[in-house]
Amino acid sequence: MTTTGAEGNGLRLTAKVFADIEQRDRHEPEFRQAVHEVLESLEPALERHGEYLDGRVLERLCEPERQIIFRVPWTDDKGDIQVNRGFRVEFNSALGPYKGGLRFHPSVNLGIVKFLGFEQTLKNALTGLPIGGGKGGSDFDPKGRSDAEIMRFCQSFMTELHRHIGEYTDVPAGDIGVGRREIGYLFGQYKRITNRYESGVITGKGLNWGGSQVRVEATGYGTVYFVDEMLRVRGEGFGGKRVVISGSGNVAVYAAQKAAELGGTVVAMSDSAGYVVDESGIDLDLVREIKETRAGRIKEYADRTTRAHYVADGTIWDVACDIALPCATQNELDGRSAATLLRNGVIAVGEGANMPATPDAVKVFLDSGVAFGPGKAANAGGVATSGLEMQQNASRDSWHFDYTDKRLAEIMADIHAMCRETAAAYGAPGNYVLGANIAGFIKVADTMRDLGVI
Ligand code: GLU
Repeated sequence: MTTTGAEGNGLRLTAKVFADIEQRDRHEPEFRQAVHEVLESLEPALERHGEYLDGRVLERLCEPERQIIFRVPWTDDKGDIQVNRGFRVEFNSALGPYKGGLRFHPSVNLGIVKFLGFEQTLKNALTGLPIGGGKGGSDFDPKGRSDAEIMRFCQSFMTELHRHIGEYTDVPAGDIGVGRREIGYLFGQYKRITNRYESGVITGKGLNWGGSQVRVEATGYGTVYFVDEMLRVRGEGFGGKRVVISGSGNVAVYAAQKAAELGGTVVAMSDSAGYVVDESGIDLDLVREIKETRAGRIKEYADRTTRAHYVADGTIWDVACDIALPCATQNELDGRSAATLLRNGVIAVGEGANMPATPDAVKVFLDSGVAFGPGKAANAGGVATSGLEMQQNASRDSWHFDYTDKRLAEIMADIHAMCRETAAAYGAPGNYVLGANIAGFIKVADTMRDLGVI
């Protein structure tokens, strides 16, 4: 470890880098938010390691290597032409090919994709696997679209995307609005255009065509494994705890399943319209039937069982719990909700989604000493299992469920230990935000320095 003795240099430097970003990326609030949080927590590392102040590592880290924006024209079921915007931000390839999901949601814009790609770069570094960071998607709204429309959209999207991706270049996967079905249509079109069965070009595939066991469950399971580790070092566990989980998509459903398996009672889940409370424990088969098979709303849950009630206005964080798992989307848990959770006795919060807690909320949790697992650590299980899918594809192998799940649990325990040790080493014991940001940064920054000015 080298010491510069230049107290305050780190602070001055991050302030300058951030001022430039405020200026250049002023129309991208989510990107600025993500960068600000990271730069803030890097200060102790920059003060200790003068080498990161050279070579403009920070400036390079905050600027994507490449950003691709493209037109996605497609024909709807009525025969009308629709035009959407497609994105792929290839953020950082120091550690391996760009890796990160595709999000199909009307809120998607360049700033959102950049924030996700930036987070992904550090998250992927924490997994210990050889993957760089990227993200993509479209402002396409899959809600209410037929299967045939989804297929035509995916085919058009891939018709452009295929020139930019590859097993050794950029490996997309799913995110909000992109699951196994969409990955199938995307992979099918890639295969058709390129005339190559290149399994390693995309992850989240079906089990018959190169997919990995545990990949669907991985983000939710991984979040619970991470929170379980945070609880374990405090002499606690999920057993007998009340758990509230926002969202009812893939991440939320499998987080709920694992939390219940470990002895917790999941009392509430939500969607963008409202939330349901079921004091006897959410019936996941019912949630899955509503959301997965018929793409319905969570309100139906309360319509179909007398045990539950539905709340249309207000926030799910009003429901008292010991453990809160925000698994829906960015900025869904604000400072006020964080204060409510605290008042109601929350002891642990794990971000299953990317950046679901606002900066105010993160501050409330950190100041209070609640165990807070930031997304880039707590939800890294999804992309880690994508990394395992790539390993299986490279060796033309497929592993059993139990073995893959064990690998996932080990990776999550390793990430937890690394974040915890790093936080303690930099004078902030228990601060997983600082630990995750510094540990991810050091790995990417050291590699960027090794590779020269590129
Ligand atoms: N979209 C997921 C994430 O936010 C997974 C990405 C991947 O598997 O490449 O990490």
